[in-house]
Amino acid sequence: VRGKITGPNGGAPRIGIPRALLGIQYHALWTLFLRGLGCTVVASPATNKDLLFAGVKVSIDDICIPVKAYLGHVLHLKALGVDALMVPRMYAIENSPAPRFTCPKFMGLPDLVRAILKGPPLLLDADVNLRERPLVRSFVEIGGMLGFGRKASTKAFEAAAAAQALFEGLLAAGRGFGPSAAAALGGDTVEPSSTGPEPGDGLLIATVGHPYLIHDDFLSFSLKKRLERLGARVVENFSLPRAVLEEEAARYHELSWSYERELLGAVSHFVSRPDVDGIVFLTSFACGTFAVVSEIIDREVRPGKEKPILYLMVDELSGDAGVQTRLESFYDMLVARRER
Ligand code: SF4
Repeated sequence: VRGKITGPNGGAPRIGIPRALLGIQYHALWTLFLRGLGCTVVASPATNKDLLFAGVKVSIDDICIPVKAYLGHVLHLKALGVDALMVPRMYAIENSPAPRFTCPKFMGLPDLVRAILKGPPLLLDADVNLRERPLVRSFVEIGGMLGFGRKASTKAFEAAAAAQALFEGLLAAGRGFGPSAAAALGGDTVEPSSTGPEPGDGLLIATVGHPYLIHDDFLSFSLKKRLERLGARVVENFSLPRAVLEEEAARYHELSWSYERELLGAVSHFVSRPDVDGIVFLTSFACGTFAVVSEIIDREVRPGKEKPILYLMVDELSGDAGVQTRLESFYDMLVARRER
């Protein structure tokens, strides 16, 4: 316990949650936990050009765009004068028999943020490592950093975890983050909306990628909307049940990154689905894990399958026209294939 934190005039502390990286996926859990303790949650706005380039300015070149954008969100929250920032160190999000971890960028994130901020606000940087301790203990630690005891933190965690489980259950039932992600991620509601493709005979394109890239409209160049404007129906990897992803990923080289296993499982599922015409895999320049996953896809998943895959790589220099041209060419190629 580092001492009781209070907000201005001794009121509720204001805790910033960057709306980026895992702050997107776990927004319900983090927001509701902090609110359950009586804190005021301040979420950064959706990524925009200013936020991204504020992050780019303080980043080294060779880092992926989601991390650069994340740093912009952090700087924005610092400028708003929040009392603390939710930056848990996400090591392992599952306790699987084979060792599995998150991307190393998530493990080093609190250190990166600390080096850039060089001072306040306080970082709520407890380790989340489900291989070593249950999640509730990480949240009791976070509560302790804010001056709350075990009992209050556990109670707040249990309510927040139930909401997160509801959110994940709906995802697993085929309902993804959806077009109302902004509302869901704003913490006012945790119910995801449907992302199932509209019925019809238009091309069906599967999109695969991390939620913090695909569901960031700015970083993804509004991928889903663009595909729909071209006339495609879209199905997302988030709508696939976890069991399906696990079963598919188990066919290939053991990957020790939890999120990458999910992406690999999704591609493996979509390449075998006769109703899917093609796959767009959205990734970021300098994503180290993609370099490995794409090799496995090309060497082990694709051979023998005739499903076109577009690897769409974005960074801060990508432009609207370039992305649009690539998507249009891919779409036209899929139309031509279907007509043949
Ligand atoms: S998985 Fe790739 S895109 Fe995501 S944080 Fe790690 S390096 Fe960046």
